Amino acid sequence: MASGNQERPLIGAHVSIAGGVSQALARGRQIGCDCIQIFTKSSRQWAAKPYSGEEIEAFKSAQAETGIRMVVAHDSYLLNLGAPGEKLRKRSVEGFIDELERCEMLGVPFLIAHPGAHVGSGEEAGLKTIAHSLDEAHKSCAGFKTRVALEITAGQGSNLGYSFEQMGRIFGAVRENERLRLCFDTEHAFAAGYDLRSSEGYERTFAELDQQVGIKRVAAFHLNDSLKPFHSRVDRHQHIGKGHLGVEPFDRLLHDPRFFGIPMCLETEPGPDMKDIAEDLATLRKLLGSQDDTKD
Ligand SMILES: [Zn+2]
Ligand SMILES: [Zn+2]
Repeated sequence: MASGNQERPLIGAHVSIAGGVSQALARGRQIGCDCIQIFTKSSRQWAAKPYSGEEIEAFKSAQAETGIRMVVAHDSYLLNLGAPGEKLRKRSVEGFIDELERCEMLGVPFLIAHPGAHVGSGEEAGLKTIAHSLDEAHKSCAGFKTRVALEITAGQGSNLGYSFEQMGRIFGAVRENERLRLCFDTEHAFAAGYDLRSSEGYERTFAELDQQVGIKRVAAFHLNDSLKPFHSRVDRHQHIGKGHLGVEPFDRLLHDPRFFGIPMCLETEPGPDMKDIAEDLATLRKLLGSQDDTKD
């Protein structure tokens, strides 16, 4: 995905779409984002009105005005593409297709999605169901530019996709898998057992990712520190440098040429007037600029 002439990744944050999707862009600019992540509709609701022509126009002109380089979307938490019951699975696939259509209309290149949970049916069955659901979504979105980027999970509960090996199996089972991408969440990976704290752990993590899925598949990052200790299997984000990861892994990521040009969004608590997430973004900016004066 790197466009070649950029010597750093794009950094930004997940921002609210309150007041309409186009409002997210001004919020992103307010705190100095190069890229933003949005929900395509309220993340706690199954159905929403389709976008009007004006909404789509407003979004596109706001993107041009603000200079936000890339917008990615995150799918709704209600969906479970791995649901063992056919009723919830079908509903999830329909909701997922709706989100892909929304992304396509807005010109959003990636829909980041949690693979799904097996809810007691077992990992094997869950992985098969997820691949089947993705096949259905791909089929009904033939020719779309928007790509699905599966996000590594913390492995909380029965959530799948908490190892690159598992991700590789999903990619392998999906028919049109050339359309799939990967989203790397630092907190989820750390909670799932990838120790990013040392440079050896960092290199080992991305070597395994490359072997199981392919480094070229990485389309987006979520930058979050971790409230819980290593390998907790718990999905709890913390502000950058204030959790168990510390700033070093972020410093490494921001200066890793393999990821230049790729969007990296914070998903930490925004706080009042987005002050807390703006502070996290400032921390990242400082790391980006500090390469020459640190020895590491
Ligand atoms: Zn996520
Ligand atoms: Zn995430």
